[in-house]
Amino acid sequence: MKARGNEYDAIVVGSGPNGLAAAITMQRKGLSVLLIEARDTIGGGLRSASLTLPGFTHDICSAVHPLAIASPFFTALPLKDHGLEFIYPTVGVAHPFENGGAVAVYRDIAETAQYLGEDKSTYQIVMSRIVKSWSDLLPDLLAPFHFPKHPLKLAAFGLKGLQSATTFAKRFRTTEARGLWAGMAAHSIQPLTNATTASFGLVLLATAHAGGWPIAKGGSMSIANALSSYFLSLGGKMITDFPVRSLNELPSSRAILFDVTPKQLLEIAGEKFSRVYTSQLKKYRYGMGVFKIDWALSGPIPFTASQCRQAGTVHLGNSLEEIVKSEQESSEGKHADHPFVLLAQPSLFDHTRAPAGKHTAWAYCHVPNGSTFNMTERIEQQVERFAPGFKDLILQRHVMNPVQLETYDANYVGGDINGGVADAKQLFTRPALKLSPYRTSAKGIYICSSSTPPGGGVHGMCGYHAARRALRDIFNEH
Ligand SMILES: Cc1cc2nc3c(=O)[nH]c(=O)nc-3n(C[C@H](O)[C@H](O)[C@H](O)COP(=O)(O)OP(=O)(O)OC[C@H]3O[C@@H](n4cnc5c(N)ncnc54)[C@H](O)[C@@H]3O)c2cc1C
Repeated sequence: MKARGNEYDAIVVGSGPNGLAAAITMQRKGLSVLLIEARDTIGGGLRSASLTLPGFTHDICSAVHPLAIASPFFTALPLKDHGLEFIYPTVGVAHPFENGGAVAVYRDIAETAQYLGEDKSTYQIVMSRIVKSWSDLLPDLLAPFHFPKHPLKLAAFGLKGLQSATTFAKRFRTTEARGLWAGMAAHSIQPLTNATTASFGLVLLATAHAGGWPIAKGGSMSIANALSSYFLSLGGKMITDFPVRSLNELPSSRAILFDVTPKQLLEIAGEKFSRVYTSQLKKYRYGMGVFKIDWALSGPIPFTASQCRQAGTVHLGNSLEEIVKSEQESSEGKHADHPFVLLAQPSLFDHTRAPAGKHTAWAYCHVPNGSTFNMTERIEQQVERFAPGFKDLILQRHVMNPVQLETYDANYVGGDINGGVADAKQLFTRPALKLSPYRTSAKGIYICSSSTPPGGGVHGMCGYHAARRALRDIFNEH
């Protein structure tokens, strides 16, 4: 379809999960959409590559996909027909302790709660209530601020989620429940004393019980490949190797949606924005960065706790106190001696990732924004602590510090993988306080990255909601 007087109806700049979601949402309405990507392949945080040795496939950014399978948008697409298969590890997440024990998170709440001693019933009550309402809560949680479809259920969730993780933790007494909780809440990438950090822990535990924490067969790139294959099958067009630096470089269109963060948006389109909007974007805050390692291993990680040897994801931080300290230190510009490490071991469940008998592992920890400090030794020591003999298995490693991450994908400003801090102030007002967070002050220009609600993670809901806004504003589509 030829757009009236323009080369395209809409252009999407950036092909991460949100750019792809925005492009698909508009192409599905019969518009002509062009998707432009800076790198030589599409995918943003969804790419996989042989980073270490031939025959090993590593996820460069995202690896574990509870939010992709929870996403109301992605789950409504025929992605299986376009080659996407999710694999569900036996244990979704495991959390080992220094005494050799571990908590395993299964789909079943009761099976999980058996590890939590005297916190068993508290955990079961809290999680059962949330999981029971989960299908009603999800569309309200993965959306911009709006009048909810299920206000009472959302209010009940909000009363808990608005708390800090450390306040919420007071209902647990055991080291096991407190450690498990802190590991989940630390995905917020903030000090766990911050308000609303409990919401991250609750959402991630609920996804583990409601759907699981799967990996994508063949690597996260399979998700991007399925999305782009579907987009192309609808008639969409794509260009790669095109880092957009100015609006003048773009073909003509009625709408442009940017899967970029405020920093780049200002550089590319700042001249079109009002003074107020420009000043709002300038005040946008980025958070801690991450230091990432991928390993090619000669065998599976020899975790002491058997539950960890069956888990897709392992949280390495021992106790709540240690995890709180690690996150606090990184937020204060320090590098934790014992960092909280998020580790995934995809090759245990997906044989396409490594040669027979060999394995891959993926891990990162939070560090100060823009840090170039080498955390390799500290991360590997943290793995060795719970899996003696781990270091002897390393055949090759590939590391990325925050600066290298930003060079790889300009959206990871200073290594911030969430597109900006998702604290109480920025959770709903990202990137600026506006009636619609996806509109900029310039007609026809939108932002659709994880710097908009509902924020970071592979779910595509920022792109979907931004595209819906553009469809209503510009194309009179409802
Ligand atoms: C190390 C790491 C681990 C992660 N782990 C997980 C995980 O396990 N699970 C999970 O759900 N999430 C995870 N994430 C977060 C997740 O990857 C992001 O939240 C998600 O990819 C954000 O999607 P997006 O579309 O907003 O941006 P991105 O995925 O960052 O995509 C942006 C795209 O835009 C392109 N681009 C930027 N500027 C321009 C320009 N000027 N011109 C053209 N193209 C441009 C970039 O090259 C990139 O391809 C992780 C991220 C990292 C870095």
